[in-house]
Amino acid sequence: MISENIKKIKQTLAPFNAALIAVSKTQPVEIILEAYQGGQRIFGENYVQELIEKQKHLPADIQWHFIGHLQSNKVKYVAPFISLFHSVDSFKLLKEINKEALNNNRVINCLLQIYIAEEETKFGFSYDEVIEILNSKQLSELHNICIIGLMGMASNTKNELQISSEFKSLKQFFDGLSTLKLKSSEQQLKNFKPQELSIGMSGDYKIALQEGSTMVRMGSMIFGERNYNQNL
Ligand SMILES: *Cc1c(COP(=O)(O)O)cnc(C)c1O
Repeated sequence: MISENIKKIKQTLAPFNAALIAVSKTQPVEIILEAYQGGQRIFGENYVQELIEKQKHLPADIQWHFIGHLQSNKVKYVAPFISLFHSVDSFKLLKEINKEALNNNRVINCLLQIYIAEEETKFGFSYDEVIEILNSKQLSELHNICIIGLMGMASNTKNELQISSEFKSLKQFFDGLSTLKLKSSEQQLKNFKPQELSIGMSGDYKIALQEGSTMVRMGSMIFGERNYNQNL
């Protein structure tokens, strides 16, 4: 079942050259292994405690992406092995990731989460805040992170026009980044290489692909509906 779902989704993604992040939050180790045996190598998790519990029982060549809101004081638990943080939503968090990356003698890739939805509950930067960060001297001093793109979540609505316009605006901003003129010309940002746009979940990934997604984060489409009550 799971491997067939993955196969089908990957066929849909192939023409768009987009990567599949299998969102395995709430899924037990055995289920993740089933997806792994079906060829999936990139998994996304939202909760630090849950992730570190599961990670130690799973194959070492899995690439773990952190996709949820993260408290700075928890970065240290996942910094040794995380391959991409999708949901960096404050400069404080970015600095903390840099610090822990340095402690682990590595450079950690990050995406900046942008707030594009109408709802007030979603985390993320505004476009202006991102520009401000990119222009800040402080950013150029973070040598152990690399910002490789942006992540966004559309409004939770059935209105597909609204979803596609939210994604479209993010894509436009994303495209502008590669030609962005930063304030200080000597400021060559070595840690800013925008190439990934993480948009699309099970409910809206087809729209996200149309709008230029390079990474879709899908859980229920692969694993079925989540059971939040299960004891992890
Ligand atoms: C849970 C989650 C997903 C996956 O949601 P599905 O609707 O199950 O595909 C994607 N992105 C984030 C940030 C999530 O928290």
